[in-house]
Amino acid sequence: MLTEEQKKRYSRQIISPSIGEEGQEKLSKLRVLQVGAGGLGSPCSLYLVAAGIKELTILDNDVLDISNLQRQILYNESQLRGVKVELAKDILSRLNSEVQVHAFKDYIDENSIKKYLKGQDFIIDCSDNLKTKFMVNKVAVDNNMKCVIAGIKDFYGQIMTINPKTSACYQCVFPVPEKEDTKAPPGNPLPVIGVTPGILGTLEALEVLKTTLNLPNLENKLLMVNLLDLSFNIIKVVKDEHCICSKEL
Ligand SMILES: [Zn+2]
Repeated sequence: MLTEEQKKRYSRQIISPSIGEEGQEKLSKLRVLQVGAGGLGSPCSLYLVAAGIKELTILDNDVLDISNLQRQILYNESQLRGVKVELAKDILSRLNSEVQVHAFKDYIDENSIKKYLKGQDFIIDCSDNLKTKFMVNKVAVDNNMKCVIAGIKDFYGQIMTINPKTSACYQCVFPVPEKEDTKAPPGNPLPVIGVTPGILGTLEALEVLKTTLNLPNLENKLLMVNLLDLSFNIIKVVKDEHCICSKEL
């Protein structure tokens, strides 16, 4: 049951015919694990926490650099060299003290992520590299967790939602790259205009909320976003019967 305070706080989404009090109650039970607290992770976490989910756990290993501020809208100039997850936790907790925000500075790989999975309804990839995206996808498939993965470059982005039992996964759509291609390129950063992760990270939050509410989402669909000519195209994707997601769980 929602409290009077919650009914007031979330009144604008409760009056949506697609949400209602019932939908808000679903959101208030939602636990989300977010990998990355940068350009995608900033808007994604802000909108999830503002929407009134139950719990958000954020994993990131970075400290704030001046070159981050062009797109990582959680942070400001006074916080340079601060640990991003600590800064994010403080900002998000002040936005909505009802939401339990947990934040861990950790190097995330297939093994280290295991200790954060228990009880999570969703895993979201907000990372900046392919290696992590494929890892998040595999973790979602192995643990039958719903998942959203987005990628960006310059003025372009793509995003899909994965329900491992029923929909195509990231690996059904994209071939696993050679090892050398999957690392984050620290000395060779990708071009990006700040608005691109702003939009794709916001869409990631939207997918988590809509999937939870049983509204139309991006399962078996890849949304390709081109912000130069402002085109949004959905490509239908199909589950590959030879993929990791087609093996018996
Ligand atoms: Zn697959």
